[in-house]
Amino acid sequence: MSKLITKIVKLPTILREIPNFLRTRIREFANLLCPQRCFGCDDFIDSDISFCKRCETLVTLPIADACPRCGGKRKGTGNVCGRCRNVTFVFERIITLGVYDGLLRLLILRMKNDRAGILSASVTKLLFVKREQQLQSLQADIIIPVPMHRARRFWRGVNSPDTIADELAAQLRIPALPSLIVRSKYTKPQRALTPSQRKSNLKNAFTFRKRNSESAVRNKRVIVVDDIVTTGATLNAMSQLLLNAGAVSIVVVAIGRAAGTTGKTRI
Ligand SMILES: [Zn+2]
Ligand SMILES: [Zn+2]
Repeated sequence: MSKLITKIVKLPTILREIPNFLRTRIREFANLLCPQRCFGCDDFIDSDISFCKRCETLVTLPIADACPRCGGKRKGTGNVCGRCRNVTFVFERIITLGVYDGLLRLLILRMKNDRAGILSASVTKLLFVKREQQLQSLQADIIIPVPMHRARRFWRGVNSPDTIADELAAQLRIPALPSLIVRSKYTKPQRALTPSQRKSNLKNAFTFRKRNSESAVRNKRVIVVDDIVTTGATLNAMSQLLLNAGAVSIVVVAIGRAAGTTGKTRI
């Protein structure tokens, strides 16, 4: 029954465009009509977060095990993990819910087609609950999701970072600015390229939609949102654009962190 209601709620793609608070109300109404089920295992749950305890544990990397810099699984006992010592990014750090693997990987892949944003909002809420202290302490001013190229957006119809940014903005009570930046180049996935190809692939990949919109980030502490962090190079390119426009600091928030490999080029 709850699946049926989810399907009904998913029907109008226009739902994507409605304000976040209204989406939350619709979700609450659907939950009232029939009990909620866990997004991970489909068991009935009695929880404000749409996951049972078991699935919650499966997708969350305990904070003590997460590297404070890259958000990945800490390797070794140092202050930051071994991968971070060889990598420099212009953003300060990455905050994630967990490792892009197993159940969390499945959820992130499902989020890519989650037109109504119900799953994306629930996973983001879990991220907020698990990382609230870190997120609040950033005292961020604005949230900007990583945009998708309009050709890719046309085929996919949904950019999950937009929904994640919306929900996070509602939780933190700060604005999300999804249309500020555009992806001006149809970039290839970074993972498939050599280091030099990666650089040219991302050169001028992002621009401000309007020239005067640069002022929206000036003197602002910015959270940049993505669904998954792999090499971090795309996020670095976008962060550089924001810093050039006068942003004070950038922190990346993502749902999943790819495990990656130890080395200079992949984290
Ligand atoms: Zn479950
Ligand atoms: Zn690290």
